[in-house]
Amino acid sequence: MPKNAESIKVVFRVRPLSSKERQNGCKIATIAHEKEGVIEIRDPTQSNNEGEAAKSFTFDAVFSEKSSQRHIYDVCAAPVVKSVLEGYNGTVFAYGQTGSGKTHTMEGVTSETLLRGIIPNAFLHIFDEIALNGSNDKYLVRASYFEIYNEEIIDLLAKSSQRLELHESDSGAVFVKDLTDVVVKSVSEIDNVLQRGKKNRSVGATLMNAESSRSHSIFSIVVECCSNDGLKERIRVGKLNLVDLAGSERQSKTGATGERLKEATKINLSLSALGNVISALVDGKSNHIPYRDSKLTRILQDSLGGNTKTVMCANAGPADYNYDESLSTLRYANRAK
Ligand code: ADP
Ligand code: MG
Repeated sequence: MPKNAESIKVVFRVRPLSSKERQNGCKIATIAHEKEGVIEIRDPTQSNNEGEAAKSFTFDAVFSEKSSQRHIYDVCAAPVVKSVLEGYNGTVFAYGQTGSGKTHTMEGVTSETLLRGIIPNAFLHIFDEIALNGSNDKYLVRASYFEIYNEEIIDLLAKSSQRLELHESDSGAVFVKDLTDVVVKSVSEIDNVLQRGKKNRSVGATLMNAESSRSHSIFSIVVECCSNDGLKERIRVGKLNLVDLAGSERQSKTGATGERLKEATKINLSLSALGNVISALVDGKSNHIPYRDSKLTRILQDSLGGNTKTVMCANAGPADYNYDESLSTLRYANRAK
């Protein structure tokens, strides 16, 4: 088995019907069978008996509407965070159409134990680990937060929202020049960084007359650890990227024109570039991984493939009116697998 197949996991989460969807009498078209690891989707226009109208897709794990935030963290993100603490890079993505539950999965409600998502749970995990080992090892944790909108990089922690450029070092490492990174010493400090960036994100979006669902947001945490066993000093550095991707909905449906259509094309470009990179990595046979095709994949190049861990969490709404988008999300995720 190619090495990458083990380091890349694709999981699928189906959110519950919202109360509005229940009120409107929406029928369920997409079901997660957790034990089997299978998502079943039924075409609501084929009302004849199940058989032909239903399709199934298998993933590394699937989560139904009953899955808790904590369970999803434990299965999807905890192994990635653990390996970041051991000095490897890792990335967790949330993919899906707008309204499918990406932000709920990544962030949830930070202040509520049962509702907090992957990002706040990762904060706790990292600082718990530091508290355990901190008497022997010295840690330095740095956070940055930016978004990619229209193939432009915007620092969410800078005072003024300026566009940043990608640079490549002599050794070929790609980095965002002048990106703010903040040293954080506790859960509450790093949580403040998240909240500050989120505020900038919505202000920036309003100024640009943009919608945050059109941008990819990337919260990165670098953990440096210096340990000393009395003989030798050892330094390990791991980077964790937590990515809330732009909505994957197809634009023909939203009737976008002009600037909006141009923007939509770029969003779809980086989502399809990401799909291509992941499927090339999983496939393990091609020696060309097309990282260079988008800003997103260039920036994440050092955190995708090789000895890094990657989790793609695809999200979908269960309702029949989401059928087309949910099916396209299933196909995207299935291809990345
Ligand atoms: P997206 O970020 O993909 O646009 P959101 O995460 O904002 O979607 O989710 C849309 C709505 O559905 C939000 O009100 C969110 O709280 C709710 N929601 C999403 N997933 C779940 C879930 N698993 N359980 C309960 N509510 C959810
Ligand atoms: Mg969102």
